[in-house]
Amino acid sequence: MSSELSHPSIKDGWFAEISNTMWPGQAMSLKVDKILHVEKSKYQDVLVFKSETYGNVLVLDNCIQVTERDEFSYQEMIAHLALNSHPNPKKALVIGGGDGGVLREILKHQSIEEAWLCDIDETVIKVSKQYLPEMSKSYQDPRTKVHIGDGFKFLDDYKNQFDVIITDSSDPEGPAESLFQKPYFELLKNALTEKGVITTQAENIWLHMPIIKQLKKDCLDIFPVAEYAYTMIPTYPSGSIGFMVCSKDSNADVKKPIRFDWDDEFVKKNLKYYNKQIHEASFILPNWADQELNSN
Ligand code: SAM
Repeated sequence: MSSELSHPSIKDGWFAEISNTMWPGQAMSLKVDKILHVEKSKYQDVLVFKSETYGNVLVLDNCIQVTERDEFSYQEMIAHLALNSHPNPKKALVIGGGDGGVLREILKHQSIEEAWLCDIDETVIKVSKQYLPEMSKSYQDPRTKVHIGDGFKFLDDYKNQFDVIITDSSDPEGPAESLFQKPYFELLKNALTEKGVITTQAENIWLHMPIIKQLKKDCLDIFPVAEYAYTMIPTYPSGSIGFMVCSKDSNADVKKPIRFDWDDEFVKKNLKYYNKQIHEASFILPNWADQELNSN
């Protein structure tokens, strides 16, 4: 490991993602090639390092947010599950998502006229532009509009505006806490157009079943449709991460894409994870998780 910078989560050339509350007793480790950036922003501890096998890695408050090697699995799924469950999305919003990866996926839809992003921390956008070019290239698209601020406060100002809203937040400890609570889902519903759809980062079945159950309950109190899906991703805790997909349209079946506008050539060139079959399969849970989450 060559670098003059140091960070408390990196020892003997290895980064360890230790959290005593979110995933007690376990920690993902990555071998560090070089520490690229260390900063305490106004909201969080920001670390970027070049790993030996996962490309550049963005870490906020000691939690891995994205790695260049596996980010597409999360970004494609959180975006296209929602966008392909909407009949004609024109205006979409990302809350969080400062790395720009979800924005990149939204912009793959030809129907999109405006793609907005509201992240609380401009430092995340700044370091992503510098160290995560494949994600942050989306900031150059003329359809992109960026707002720096708290997503919760931002949403309060918008009613019937967005066809799709994607909450790409960090975990519910720290600045994203309010984005997992019921009042936030009320705001999301009000900011959506008539057949609006949301997806939100919804944690891992092995680690966070109580959080997921509460989230689903809260969502179903507000939206007529709320379903949990998940994707495989090696660098998130326990190797998978979930999404809550909700629709304002009581007739919507978000488990099936109602739109798939891309031909084989586009898919081959632009989508590394998402396809029609994966959309449907991502809602099928192992028996124990299905019983915990979906039986009354
Ligand atoms: N994909 C990642 C994951 O699941 O670990 C999340 C990545 S994304 C970089 C998380 C973003 O949410 C960060 O850029 C952070 O600044 C932003 N964020 C946290 N709380 C927020 C809030 N209240 N309003 C807007 N953005 C917020």
